[in-house]
Parts: sequence; structure tokens; C-alpha cells
Amino acid sequence: MELLTMPRADDVVASARRIGEEVAGRCAEVVDRDSRFPSETVAGLRSSGLLGALVPHELGGPEASLQEMSQAVSALAQYCASSALVLAMHQIQVATLMRHATNEARVALAPRLLSGELLLASANSEVGLGGERRSSLCALEPTEGGFRLDKQASTVSYGEFADGVVATARRGPESRANDQVLAVCLPPSLELDPTGEWDTLGLRGTRSRPCHLVAEVPPEMVVSDYADAFMRTSLPTSAVLLSSVWWGLAEAAGQRAHSSVRSKARKERMSGAEPSLRGAFRLAELGVLLHQMREVLAGGAAAYDRSKDSPEVATFQFSSRMDNVKLSSSTLVLDIAQRAMGICGLGGYENGSQTSMGRIMRDAAAAPLMVNNDRALEATAQALLVMKEL
Ligand SMILES: Cc1cc2nc3c(=O)[nH]c(=O)nc-3n(C[C@H](O)[C@H](O)[C@H](O)COP(=O)(O)OP(=O)(O)OC[C@H]3O[C@@H](n4cnc5c(N)ncnc54)[C@H](O)[C@@H]3O)c2cc1C
Repeated sequence: MELLTMPRADDVVASARRIGEEVAGRCAEVVDRDSRFPSETVAGLRSSGLLGALVPHELGGPEASLQEMSQAVSALAQYCASSALVLAMHQIQVATLMRHATNEARVALAPRLLSGELLLASANSEVGLGGERRSSLCALEPTEGGFRLDKQASTVSYGEFADGVVATARRGPESRANDQVLAVCLPPSLELDPTGEWDTLGLRGTRSRPCHLVAEVPPEMVVSDYADAFMRTSLPTSAVLLSSVWWGLAEAAGQRAHSSVRSKARKERMSGAEPSLRGAFRLAELGVLLHQMREVLAGGAAAYDRSKDSPEVATFQFSSRMDNVKLSSSTLVLDIAQRAMGICGLGGYENGSQTSMGRIMRDAAAAPLMVNNDRALEATAQALLVMKEL
């Protein structure tokens, strides 16, 4: 097992920031312009050991916490949100598999994650279901040695560049829509054929194309209780890590607004005038929202790290709290980016300027859609019918 490049858990954030500065930031514009996969950045994630950062100690990994991974994703998103989303989506799968897969699967997958050779994509969304999180149309069909899965996946980010795809499916052809399992689909028993394009407003580097997935899945590569895995791990890690991308975008917007305000003040001072406080006033207001964003993320990630092994994590209350992290962050980021644009003025509106908000605003526009905020609100609304506390 290659552990030489593996960061210690407390180096995870520094590694992500370094990759952001040295690689992701330098190719972010062209990744966005050409809607191409950020392969240089992902090569950096592979060689730094970051892909295996959540692998637990018992399997030879650094067992980074969700708080650390959230900060790492946010640090990377400040340079390239597409790259950060790749890291976030991969880690949601890793977290889920390391906690819920069979022991055989965990032992087989961990060394490949640690050596950086296994980038995992996900195929949850399905043609005909929209963004419904807890239902599937496709089903595992029993075969001689295991199962066969045939899925029309509506969106598989970086599917063509991944080394495996983790897919939701019904347990069997006779199962109800919400009786789901999670299937780890690996080459050579995996065929993934794109059936459409990915030409979007933002997050263009994620290459999230619709795909036809066909796989043979051995029994040990099936997580048999997805309802449990979803509630305990997939939902909270997805809420926190997707939100960390929005947080990173908000930080980037704040930094650009701050630099615009300081540069104007410098120019005013140099011309002998007293710097106007108008922009700084708006920036102070933006800082209040950024503070909320940081607290929401820090609180959500810490709550998960604290409760992940307790029964609390499997309660409606906890799931609603995690959904609230995503609901808050996905609306705050849009507000912050809009305010930052107001502070930067034309420099913010211009493409290619030092303080351009173009890519940030386009990337952030996906925040309420991915997973649609109405889905999370509906889940909370349903829970509130029986929950005693808000
Ligand atoms: C950048 C990006 C990357 C993605 N990558 C992946 C990936 O790798 N793997 C993957 O599986 N998916 C991925 N997705 C898909 C994502 O997880 C959601 O499935 C998708 O964004 C939802 O698409 P939708 O808006 O068409 O669907 P919906 O969630 O169906 O929303 C459409 C509309 O329907 C309304 N609506 C319909 N039914 C309900 C209901 N019951 N409750 C509440 N509202 C309802 C919503 O309000 C909304 O207005 C990605 C999406 C994006 C934007």
C-alpha cells in the first residue's frame, strides 16, 4: 500500500489550498471556457493522497474529519468550484462506503483510494425521476454470480473520467421504489455511455452528462440498506460538502469585493482625499452574511463529527438540521455574490477583470438546484408533521 504521499488528517486543508493555488486557480478560466474536466487538478488530488483522506485508521487511512474535509473543499472552491465539486462528490461516496459497505468491499477499495487510483462518481439521479433522492426506477437483477444493473442516469458528473460509479437502484425487480441499495460499479464490468451533453451556465468543468450505465455487480459490492446509509452518512456529508463548495465561492466573492474596496481607498488616499466609507460599509454588511455562512458550515460539520456514531444521526431532527445547512448555504452564496458584484461595480460585471464575478455567479447559480432546495424543504415539511421541535 502506497502511503508515502498521504497527508495527515490535519494537512488535508493545506494540501487542498496548495493544489488550488498552484494548479486549479491557473486553469480555472480555461476549464470554464471550454467546459472541460479539470484533469490537472484531479491529478493533484490523486497524487496528494486527498482522494483517500476519509479512509479510516483501521484501513490505513488518515481518517480526516468532516470538518477538515469541508474546509478542504471550500479552500479548493475559492480557486475552481468545478474541481471542488469533484472532490466533494467523490468524498460523499467514500464516506458512505467506508461506513456502510461490506467489509470485503471496504478492504478492497481502501488501498485504491489511498494510492489515488480510485476516483468515484455517483449515479443517483435517474431519467424519469427528477432529483428525487430516495427512489429508484432501475433495479438490481440477479445473475449467476451477483447482479446486473441497467440505469438511465440523468446526470453523472465526471463519469467518463472516474474509475468507478456508485449507483442507487431498487433492491430487485419486485421491490418498491424506495427499497434501495447502493451498487459499486467498477471496470471492467462497467459500461458508461454518455447520452447527452453538458453545456451549462456554470460548473462547466464537472462534465455532468446523462449516461446509460450497465454493470455487473458482485454481491459484496452492494450496500444493502441504502435508507440507513442515506440518513446516517450520504445525506449529512452531501449537505455539508456541497455547501462547502458554495462557501468557497462566497469567500472568493468576499475577497474580490474586499480587494476592490481597498484598492479604491488606496487610490483616494494617494490623491490626498479621505477614503469614502461607502464601499466598506457595504462590505461590512457582506461580512455579516459571510460570518453566518462560516458558522452554518462549521456548526453542521462539527455536529456530524460529534454525532455520526450516535443514534441521533438517524433522527428526522438531525436530517432536517443537515438539510438546513444546504438550504442556508445555497441561498446565502447567491446573496453574497450579488452584494460583492454591487461593491465591485463594473469591475465585477466585466469578464476577465481582477474582480470579475462572472464565473462565481454562474457557478453559484447551481446551488439551489443541486439537489433542488424544494426537495429538502419537502422532506423537512413532512418531518415537521410528526416532530415536536422545530
Ligand atoms: C452541477 C451538477 C452536478 C450534478 N452531478 C450529479 C451526479 O454526479 N450524480 C447525480 O446523481 N446527480 C447529479 N446532479 C443532479 C442533482 O443531484 C439533481 O438531481 C438535479 O439537480 C435535479 O434536477 P431537476 O432540477 O431537474 O429536478 P428536480 O429535483 O425534480 O426539480 C425540478 C423542479 O421540480 C420541483 N419538484 C418536483 N417534484 C418535487 C417534489 N416532490 N418535492 C419538491 N419539489 C419538487 C422542484 O421544485 C423544481 O422546481 C447534478 C446536478 C448539478 C447541477
